[in-house]
Amino acid sequence: MTLIDGKGTAAAIRAELAVRAAAFEQKSGKKAGLAVVLIGNNPASQIYVRNKIKACEEAGLRSFAHYLPADVSQEEALALICKLAADGDVHGILVQLPLPRGLDAAALLAAIPAEKDVDGFSAENIGKLAKNEGGTVACTPLGVMELLHRYRIPTAGRHAVVVGRSNIVGKPMAMLLLNADATVTVCHSKTVGLKEICKEADILIAAVGKPKFITADMVKEGAVVIDVGTSRDEEGKLCGDVDFEAVSGVASYLTPVPGGVGPMTIAMLLKNTVAAAERTLK
Ligand code: NAP
Repeated sequence: MTLIDGKGTAAAIRAELAVRAAAFEQKSGKKAGLAVVLIGNNPASQIYVRNKIKACEEAGLRSFAHYLPADVSQEEALALICKLAADGDVHGILVQLPLPRGLDAAALLAAIPAEKDVDGFSAENIGKLAKNEGGTVACTPLGVMELLHRYRIPTAGRHAVVVGRSNIVGKPMAMLLLNADATVTVCHSKTVGLKEICKEADILIAAVGKPKFITADMVKEGAVVIDVGTSRDEEGKLCGDVDFEAVSGVASYLTPVPGGVGPMTIAMLLKNTVAAAERTLK
């Protein structure tokens, strides 16, 4: 079994992006800029935002962190996003989810112009993905595709099974695999015969959010298994959706948690931001 090293791959990508970011700065006279909006004090979100800002700075991007209190009004939050949308130094805008109750996340996200939507959540970018017309793609599924590509794992003609159908992971993941000529099955909580379907997968992507949900008897001998899940086990340790020990005896390739898809998500956020900045030169 080959362990897919997301941490090392992400570091290599960040180094490549640092070169692109420096070239952008030389041409435009400014750094590629990412604005991160954090509303409220969700501890996990605070860690994610801190990591994103650190990664930006290490790759030579400029970050603009905006912290709003949990009781901020919809109008105030919207006004900030509109200000960032008009700011020429900001090439990407990210609103950290989930938002506190009372805020209309969809309305806030809709105020981010598609060209600055580095999370790839806008209707325009999702539409482009569905039509295989480029656009900015959600960072986590994009990171999975990058891992498959860099490990030279072919997708064309292979049966990919995606477990999970969220708008931010499962659905864009399925569309990316379809665009890469895989034959794709999407499973969810109402799927009947999940074990048998998973066992048919050449490439199995788990994006459920339940520790050890994918067991060895759900995996075909030699399958590629990508674990997107991030949960906490009984001891509070970070773990994925896949029973790593057992599945490593069956899979040909497997991502660990931590150190698999997670670091790729941040690398893809930087990639989307650098690409958004580069587009402003055209
Ligand atoms: P989500 O919105 O909660 O979606 C979970 C999906 O799993 C849903 O589609 C759900 O089906 C499906 N599901 C739940 N129970 C199931 C079951 N018994 N059988 C089959 N499918 C089942 O979560 P998400 O945002 O997509 O995230 C999924 C996981 O990835 C989470 O652990 C999250 O923390 C992690 N994640 C990691 C990264 C990263 O950077 N590594 C980024 C994003 C997310 P229904 O639609 O029918 O409810």
